[in-house]
Amino acid sequence: MILNKPYVLTDIKKTTKDVTTFTFKAQDGTSIDFSPGMFAMLTWMGPDGQKISRAFSIANCPPSGELQFFISMIKGQFTSKLENAKVGDVYQVSAPYGQFKLESNFGNKLLFLAGGTGLAPFFSMLKYIIGKNSKPDIVLIYSVKYPYDIIEKEELEKMIAALGGKLTVTVTRPADGDGWTGERGHANADMIKKYAPDSKDRVSYICGPPEFVKALKAALVSLGTNEKEIKAEMWG
Ligand SMILES: Cc1cc2nc3c(=O)[nH]c(=O)nc-3n(C[C@H](O)[C@H](O)[C@H](O)COP(=O)(O)OP(=O)(O)OC[C@H]3O[C@@H](n4cnc5c(N)ncnc54)[C@H](O)[C@@H]3O)c2cc1C
Repeated sequence: MILNKPYVLTDIKKTTKDVTTFTFKAQDGTSIDFSPGMFAMLTWMGPDGQKISRAFSIANCPPSGELQFFISMIKGQFTSKLENAKVGDVYQVSAPYGQFKLESNFGNKLLFLAGGTGLAPFFSMLKYIIGKNSKPDIVLIYSVKYPYDIIEKEELEKMIAALGGKLTVTVTRPADGDGWTGERGHANADMIKKYAPDSKDRVSYICGPPEFVKALKAALVSLGTNEKEIKAEMWG
């Protein structure tokens, strides 16, 4: 566990129209261990001693000297500061936190339900599982507003292919002429039934905005999963 440790911003990458990937390295070069799915508290420090802290899911895989985050640039208090961030800036990091994590004995049937930047913890989990040379049966349903919102599409598809898993992206705001030929509309029980008919036999993880998490928890329960066994992380 680290508390308010200085981390240097080493890379800023505009990943989609609205999401930027920020990579940080511990100033003293040490690495931290965490379970995939956990989050870190990032603190921006102003020149006048002002501090703003927010939670972000770690998108890379443990153990690591780097911490990577997929951040929706919504122009709020913290994300406005990040709009002006430069490589070399120092933030404070406290980590790892959270109960939303892939257990070391993660089982052989998983269902991942991601909404928007809620993909981040699953990115960490997928990388970790690949690193373990394990091949559980994974179904990932990923909901985005627009086709251009898919985070790290190529790498995501490669990881799922390497695991022999199934990836379904659903676009909730499809538009004429956007070329989208995949699923449309909000993820729901019908979509889960279509891509994971055995959902009740899977360990299910949900991460995303509150309305996404609530709706999909209810969908899983309607399909026979015990609510207590659903692992969920709600943002906002
Ligand atoms: C455990 C955890 C993990 C998280 N992981 C991530 C992550 O990996 N990536 C990430 O981007 N965020 C993540 N968040 C959210 C993050 O902590 C901040 O809440 C978010 O970045 C907004 O902070 P802000 O200071 O910029 O906005 P604030 O000034 O705090 O304002 C937020 C306001 O914007 C609204 N809002 C929230 N989200 C959106 C949105 N997408 N679009 C428009 N308005 C919105 C809220 O309702 C609120 O009114 C996570 C939150 C939690 C609790």
